[in-house]
Amino acid sequence: MNSSTKRPVAWLVIVVLTSLTALTVEACASAPAQDGSERVSLDAYAEWRRDDTIIVDGQRVRTGAATTFEGERARQFSEIQLGDEVRLTGVRLGDGSVLATELEAKVNGSALFEGDVRAATDEIEALWLKEGMMFEPKEDGGREVIGTMVTSGPKLARVERITRRMLPPYLPAEAVRVHVVETDEWNAAAMGNGAVWVYTGLIDELSDDELAIVIGHELAHFTHEHSRRGARSGLLTQLLGLGALVAAEAIDNDVLRTSAQVAALLSMTATLSNYSRNHEDQADRVGLRYVSEAGFDVGQGPHLWARFRDKYGEQNPLVNFFLGSHSRPTDRIRNIERELALNYR
Ligand SMILES: [Zn+2]
Repeated sequence: MNSSTKRPVAWLVIVVLTSLTALTVEACASAPAQDGSERVSLDAYAEWRRDDTIIVDGQRVRTGAATTFEGERARQFSEIQLGDEVRLTGVRLGDGSVLATELEAKVNGSALFEGDVRAATDEIEALWLKEGMMFEPKEDGGREVIGTMVTSGPKLARVERITRRMLPPYLPAEAVRVHVVETDEWNAAAMGNGAVWVYTGLIDELSDDELAIVIGHELAHFTHEHSRRGARSGLLTQLLGLGALVAAEAIDNDVLRTSAQVAALLSMTATLSNYSRNHEDQADRVGLRYVSEAGFDVGQGPHLWARFRDKYGEQNPLVNFFLGSHSRPTDRIRNIERELALNYR
């Protein structure tokens, strides 16, 4: 067994052992307070500074005399840095912004699972690019081809242009890589290493504004580290479900011929199909902010999801990794309309 076949085993062991103690993250919770004002909890990143607000979780956050700053990183509003991890509770104001009552900013350091998610997804990205196709390994060693890679031309250039425009300012441009997959399905995906995959079905049929909404959603999964944050709830379940595939001795037999195939199976199940409902809703909120800051039309959101509903219905397993654990399209349209009313009117 060479070192490249050992690595996934070590990764599995680490994941299984540490999953048990990882925290589950509630992305954005809100509830009415006794006085009728809406209480808001956010757990996200500081992404833009706009006048006297910072953008966290797509929301405009203010601080005031009543704000308590926790931790050492930021003792006042001006000390919060873009890219910082920010947790806060507050109340919704009449203009839709959030007044923080307690706020903690932290450097976005390397967290539990982050390196594991990155290593596994780097492997699958490299494998798909090398083979010139996106595919899922089957348990019998075969391949389920999703589509071939489009490595040049106007479709790739268009998706690149839209994506680049939407990156938040603290993120280095090289952190995100855009790939186009030839298939008529309407789908897109993001990996924990910054690889974003967009299907030609969407590129051919959506406007730039609509495409931006889809890509913004995917970018938010990456910037908000949903693969890592979902590791406890999702990955462990997936691992247990995979049964024999995760047994160490299986690595040496023909069923799992290469370490890349192991990584492929795991990283796809973990990163492409397993975001929680909370993470999906957060990706919608943050994604709309990316769309808006880039100058695309966030108002197209409800119409876009109505188009998805028309095409695939309320529930469709075909599009599970984009729509999978998400609110049904009808709920999603309602959520997005609320978000537009709070933040973009
Ligand atoms: Zn999603």
